[in-house]
Amino acid sequence: MVPAADLTAGRVAVGVDWSPSTLGAAAIAADSPDGLVSDYRGWTYDDRGLGIKLARLQAEGQLLHAKAARLTRLSAAAPPEVRARLEAKIAVLDAHRTAVGIKRGKINRELAFDFARQATDYATVAGAQVIAVEDLTTLETRGHGRANNNRAAQSARRQAVAALAHTAAGVGIAVVSVPARGSSAQCPGCDEPFSRPGGYHTAWCPRCRVGGNRDHVAGVNLAKRALLGRNKTTRRRGGLPAVRVTEHAPVRRSRDKHAPTPSRPRHRRVRRSLPTVTPRLGVTPNQHVPASQASVWDTVKPAPPTVMRVAVTHVHLPRPPRKWQIV
Ligand SMILES: [Zn+2]
Repeated sequence: MVPAADLTAGRVAVGVDWSPSTLGAAAIAADSPDGLVSDYRGWTYDDRGLGIKLARLQAEGQLLHAKAARLTRLSAAAPPEVRARLEAKIAVLDAHRTAVGIKRGKINRELAFDFARQATDYATVAGAQVIAVEDLTTLETRGHGRANNNRAAQSARRQAVAALAHTAAGVGIAVVSVPARGSSAQCPGCDEPFSRPGGYHTAWCPRCRVGGNRDHVAGVNLAKRALLGRNKTTRRRGGLPAVRVTEHAPVRRSRDKHAPTPSRPRHRRVRRSLPTVTPRLGVTPNQHVPASQASVWDTVKPAPPTVMRVAVTHVHLPRPPRKWQIV
């Protein structure tokens, strides 16, 4: 048991925005003596491909379900011996579907706790006292097509919220839910709609000259809502403390150091072991095959360069020595 964090003392808040492509993104807003400030730089969670894997498993489960349903309809009107075979097939499909479901559950849980750990570390480094998450009940996820709705499945987010509340409580950070509406559509500085210079994923306010990644400015907006409403939270039994009203106060851009500096790869990975590719002349020139390697086990002596002997069935085609490559 840990004591509940004091919400009203929060000066720095992290806003977590749910995004369809990765699980979430976060940004920071702080309450300074002259108003709210943010550096408008966010952090995007890297799910290491688990989101794609989940979507693939979900599609696979739906496919298995559809196939089993089809066989069930067929077996209803089938003669007995055919029906027995169909039912054996249906049993196999159902077993596969159960296995896929169990696998999805495990991946979901791993994803949720990995996200929670990283988001909590981000908030700890930033010195935040509050993490604001979008209220999932007010989130509008309809109308983006089947593929995107599948990906934005709420269950993974609900698990991530629970994991985040659990992990953050361990370091004394409170998690509050704030209204989701308009978080990535309106400028945190002036509350006017953003323009989208680079399409859906970018946001820019020409008046305040702030913007950037859509999910990151949404994080600033959510952190702002948590800071402005921190004295007016309500708590339902079994739920997170919630801010229900959206207030506005301008968030200025500042260069104050709050967010952790993103780590950079120190060494560029170079692959030196790949064989160099030589184009095969004559046949389709856009298909390349690597040069055959000279081996110590080669017992075939290279042919003298003046005579070209071509053995079609031979594996090790001798090449003239000037074409050999040192790898
Ligand atoms: Zn603005």
